[in-house]
Amino acid sequence: MTHPRNLSLAEMDRQSVFHPVSSIDDVMRNGPSVYTSAAGVMLRNAAGRDLIDMGAGLWCVNAGYGRAELADASAKAMRELSYQHLFGGASCEATILLADRLLGLFRERAGAPQMARVFFGTSGSDANDTAFKLVRYYNNLRGLPKKKKVISRIGAYHGLTYAATSLTGIEAYHKAFDLPIADVVHTSCPHHYTFSLPGESEQAFSDRMVADLETLIAREGAETIAAFIAEPVMGTGGVFLPPADYFARVQQVLDANDILFIADEIITGFGRTGQWFGTGTYNLRPDIVSLAKGLTSAYFPMSANMVSDRIWSVLENASPEVGAFMHGFTYSGHPVGSAVALANIDLIEREGMVENAAALAPRFVTALRDRLGDNPFIGDIRSVGLMAGVEFVADRAKRTAFPAGTGPHRIVARHAIEAGVLTRALPFIPVNSFSPPLSITAGEIDEAMDRYAAAVTSAMPELI
Ligand code: PLP
Repeated sequence: MTHPRNLSLAEMDRQSVFHPVSSIDDVMRNGPSVYTSAAGVMLRNAAGRDLIDMGAGLWCVNAGYGRAELADASAKAMRELSYQHLFGGASCEATILLADRLLGLFRERAGAPQMARVFFGTSGSDANDTAFKLVRYYNNLRGLPKKKKVISRIGAYHGLTYAATSLTGIEAYHKAFDLPIADVVHTSCPHHYTFSLPGESEQAFSDRMVADLETLIAREGAETIAAFIAEPVMGTGGVFLPPADYFARVQQVLDANDILFIADEIITGFGRTGQWFGTGTYNLRPDIVSLAKGLTSAYFPMSANMVSDRIWSVLENASPEVGAFMHGFTYSGHPVGSAVALANIDLIEREGMVENAAALAPRFVTALRDRLGDNPFIGDIRSVGLMAGVEFVADRAKRTAFPAGTGPHRIVARHAIEAGVLTRALPFIPVNSFSPPLSITAGEIDEAMDRYAAAVTSAMPELI
């Protein structure tokens, strides 16, 4: 297909698009991969090939592609109001209804009645930057100006704005950006399979992770630490499920040190774990929750921060003296995003997608294990709900890593495209991740896993 200036779309891309999180060198040599249309779990590329998208984009198209209900909600909201900001106390119907709906969902489906208000943004990253600023604001209003640091975890992914990149615990994202900033400290990565000591049980490992956190707090001084941020399941790091007791024990440590808990539910929110929220799955007691992605199934860029009543009451009480809360964005609470989010939540509820994720979860992991459990280069297959990771090792018995630069998961992901399925090659340790739309069927899971297994087989000569 040729376009203005008689160039192919791919060539125009190479000459004009600055791709996020991409190798410029690779795009100039091999890229881009252009996609043209999608429906359900299928994505069509410019060559007319249909691929099963086992990533749901970037863990985000929870309701699946091509839903007319979301397009209609968006068109209606654009015609009716188009835009409304929330500054200076302005508001609009869809945004009010959405805030109320989110608080209700958290109360009823996540067992978290402490959530008091919802602040809106446009991306997961800005939600985490908002959380970062909020905990400072809260402690300044409480007369604790030294209590500012945020503890994150090695291997965490919290986005790529300035504070969010710093919270992200993966070095590749810091390189050449002079990050992380001061006031962010990272504690150990709680991924038992890769980071446990030889023979260390999951419980002993969990104990050690909690002890590391306590040591860090003692070293920095609890009076300097405002918050701890965690994904209920670490996604981009490698689909790391929390080890036994981990969050219950972490919560005790946080409570004992007057440290807030920020739950980054940007991936786990809206059904991914087989429950509505990771907060419910893992019995968390967050003070701030970051939501994005599945909030609108990515049909509109929107994020939300829920804040607990203990934070809200400090802000509310201090308000007459402190003056306006001077944080927010042009698109905070955008009425089109709010209408899409409401329609999306309706769709997820009406079609039972969270229940579908829970029901298909065992079949999903069994399908992976049946096909790949004996592969000599696959050390671990783990999952919760419709979120799974396949971890590659050079030697299964010794759990040794491939030599630096081999990238077995990248090789397999490339073969997967050939086999007609999309999986992601994650940037921290060699893991292929899977997080399909929650509307996926049992038949589609089986077909996707057949294709992925074929990709692993065809990649084998390059792994040996
Ligand atoms: N937090 C988590 C857990 C994420 O997975 C992501 C994105 O992948 C983000 C934050 C950042 O979201 P965004 O890319 O919308 O800024």
